[in-house]
Amino acid sequence: MRNFRILVQKFGGTSVASPERRAQVAEKVITAKEEGYTPVVVVSAIGRTGDPYATDTFLNMVKGINPDVPKRELDMLMSCGEVISGVVMVSTLIGLGHDAVLLTGAQAGIVTTNTFGDARIVRIEPKNILENLAQGRIVVITGFQGITEAGEITTLGRGGSDTTASALGVALDAEAIDIYTDVEGIMTADPRIVDNAKILDVVTYNEICQLAHQGAKVIHPRAVEIAMQKNIPLRVKSTFSDAPGTLVTNQLDSDSIEVGIDITGDRLITGIAHTPHVTQLRIDTQNEQNVPEVDLKIFKAMALADISVDLITVLPSTVVYTVKDDVADKAVKILRNMGFAVETRPSCAKIAVIGGGIAGVPGVMAQVLEGLTSHGIQVLQSADSHATIWVLVAKEDMIKAVRSLHEIFCLGR
Ligand code: ADP
Ligand code: MG
Repeated sequence: MRNFRILVQKFGGTSVASPERRAQVAEKVITAKEEGYTPVVVVSAIGRTGDPYATDTFLNMVKGINPDVPKRELDMLMSCGEVISGVVMVSTLIGLGHDAVLLTGAQAGIVTTNTFGDARIVRIEPKNILENLAQGRIVVITGFQGITEAGEITTLGRGGSDTTASALGVALDAEAIDIYTDVEGIMTADPRIVDNAKILDVVTYNEICQLAHQGAKVIHPRAVEIAMQKNIPLRVKSTFSDAPGTLVTNQLDSDSIEVGIDITGDRLITGIAHTPHVTQLRIDTQNEQNVPEVDLKIFKAMALADISVDLITVLPSTVVYTVKDDVADKAVKILRNMGFAVETRPSCAKIAVIGGGIAGVPGVMAQVLEGLTSHGIQVLQSADSHATIWVLVAKEDMIKAVRSLHEIFCLGR
């Protein structure tokens, strides 16, 4: 294994969506090979919702027949998109004169837990990958999927191909993990919302983990966490250009400090992320006898029902928190069955202002509020940690809120 200079290259759904684009993918792979790397390629399913071979298209097809398809069968279905895309990519590479082979998650030895639809990788047995690499083949691996100990096919949840790439990077001791996508790197905000969002040249794993957890879907947070464990450099780049992209690394032992790139330095705020489709729940506890016990009961009930809660504010007479819109009805039902009066505010958006520099700097919250109120945006709730400030706003205000925060912290180009 040590003889190879392994480079994991992951290509997202838009990168493999047309013959022209696949030619660009092939060029990235072949260039890596010519530079002396041993590429291990991870592919996502072709295209997005509506495209014929996109994962959502498959889902809609069976959900039209029966909305309650078992999760096990859904995973078998959802694993097909990457297989199709992988075969297409291998055919492209072979057509260009390069020996290549496709391995599914199972064939690549990606062993996962048995949580269908949201499985975690527990280990990778790379024997098959290494044997194929030793034959001089370009190994293409289907992203987003694996196999349980019992031999069941699983998928890893949205953004799961990023996780496949990172886990392979760690298992194969890769020199780097390159995540190729349709933007030129990780930016200070979603470029679909903020026109002048700026590419971040170098960022720490922690900063990106925060951004990804808070909704920046450019990379899956689990992928960042996995790469961070072994300190393998992660790069986010465009399939369609030669721009250097974003390097995600560990702030302390990076060569980049020597060449004078400022990683954290004066950077107060790294970026703004947003999560739509959030419901705020407000529970009145003022007539309760033993309030702390009641609070505990509420959160235990949520945990038992597998409902994740966020932005929690516990006050002597009220408990306020948010859940995703799609589980709000379930949460409300549970709470009402427990005898609580619950008020809901559906269709909110959570905006996160992220930056390692926030910790202990006075006035950041004031700036956030100033930025929002000056644009007439009402803050429904807020919270903060050492590296993040969250505000909850109405759905209608989401885009305006992201833009105005991006502006007030001068994050643009
Ligand atoms: P892929 O199919 O390649 O995995 P994704 O759609 O998952 O691509 O991720 C890329 C998209 O992430 C971009 O098109 C962009 O709209 C969105 N995005 C959201 N936040 C950010 C951000 N902070 N920086 C860059 N892209 C972002
Ligand atoms: Mg993605």
